[in-house]
Amino acid sequence: MDRLEQAVARSERRSHPVAVMFLDLDRFKVINDSLGHTAGDQVLIRVGQRLRASLRPGDTVCRFGGDEFVVLCEDMRSESEATHIATRLGWSVAHPIPLPTGEVVVTTSIGVAIAKGPQDSAENLVRDADAALYRAKERGRARHELFDHRMRSRAVLRLQTESELRHAIGAEAFETHYQPIVRLADGHPVAMEALLRWRHPDRGLLAPADFIPVAEETGLIVPLGNWVMREACRQASRWLSAPNAAPLTVAVNVSPRQIAQPTFADEVRAALASADLQPTSLWLEITESVLVEATSITLRVLDRLRGLGVRLAIDDFGTGYASLGYLRRFNVDMLKIDRSFVSVLGRDAEDSAIVAAIISLARALGLSVVAEGVETPEQAEHLRALGCNLAQGYHFAHPQPAEAWSSSVLAANGRRFPERPRPWRLQAPGT
Ligand code: C2E
Ligand code: CA
Ligand code: CA
Repeated sequence: MDRLEQAVARSERRSHPVAVMFLDLDRFKVINDSLGHTAGDQVLIRVGQRLRASLRPGDTVCRFGGDEFVVLCEDMRSESEATHIATRLGWSVAHPIPLPTGEVVVTTSIGVAIAKGPQDSAENLVRDADAALYRAKERGRARHELFDHRMRSRAVLRLQTESELRHAIGAEAFETHYQPIVRLADGHPVAMEALLRWRHPDRGLLAPADFIPVAEETGLIVPLGNWVMREACRQASRWLSAPNAAPLTVAVNVSPRQIAQPTFADEVRAALASADLQPTSLWLEITESVLVEATSITLRVLDRLRGLGVRLAIDDFGTGYASLGYLRRFNVDMLKIDRSFVSVLGRDAEDSAIVAAIISLARALGLSVVAEGVETPEQAEHLRALGCNLAQGYHFAHPQPAEAWSSSVLAANGRRFPERPRPWRLQAPGT
């Protein structure tokens, strides 16, 4: 930062701007986890050497932390000179790195910011380069992006969302909607998935895509996720206490950050106890990344959850990198086939083959399988023919507030989905 401040001051005098490049290795964690930390260290050293070798003598390269590097280049004559350097740095990193166990290839994402005037303090430049890096990651990694001011407004929106989120958590501005998961054989709902919504004062009802990423980044997902857990347990208990209630499970999405809390299993137990709900009436949906990146804490938490008797489902299955070994090792109960495979069933031969393979894999391992995002009768039929037992999607029902799912809908002799005769409508409470 010190060198950067001096460089900024000099560049104002000489009117030759400085460029700051923020580099982050792509999926470095996979290398660390699969090859070990010694190999990870060797990769970092090698990358550092290569960066240094591809810069000019006056430039600075530093390790910023973890797998992040920052490069400072003075006397840039043009923007394109800076992006040329970024391209060169990217290439220099991407050559195979020899390790005792074989070669690895790492790529890097790069955000570039160029000082334009006195407002570009050292700190602002690093922040802008970081915002550009974020965009490079978003656009698929192994590339660079030049900062522009729209990125700053996005960063500002993220900051604003963060402060509003903090507020909203105190003000209880959230609600959970529920979407049935039905048995394909008879359309009977066997579970309800809790899906979080934020009733924003100006922006209306927000879907998770608008705020979960910020909640994840900031850690706010932990209190928020715990709130959903309690709320969903209470609601399930209400449904189950109706006189003619059919057995019903509530499915709750759990963020990797929640699972990484050593106290998570206690949270779950407390939520169950205060709602007076059996652990078998709760299933938790985790993503493959939780298993792939599991630490010793995660392992203990997952073990304790199993000990409690709650069931574990792998959400968005097929999009992550979990191997079959993980499914056995972590003793999961259920796979949810990601919507992207289901949506092309019958249209794309390869994706259809993946769906068929996941279903037979699940059956061979004795796991339940839920198809997500079923939108048409043809997809439902296809899945039934493939031996899939459970499904979820707009074809059966949209997510709706808890009030829409009265006890009579969910009763043992209640409705079956899809409800063909009448168009879907919101059910008033108590009807
Ligand atoms: P997900 O767990 O895969 O949830 C299914 C998403 O697909 C929901 O979106 C649902 O409304 C939508 N969906 C259901 N059926 C269909 C269909 O037939 N077609 C299409 N196109 N979409 C369908 P939603 O509610 O916007 O939630 C998005 C994601 O946000 C969820 O994906 C989940 O990963 C996350 N999420 C939701 N609630 C929570 C929560 O309480 N905690 C955490 N950590 N994540 C949550
Ligand atoms: Ca889910
Ligand atoms: Ca999913």
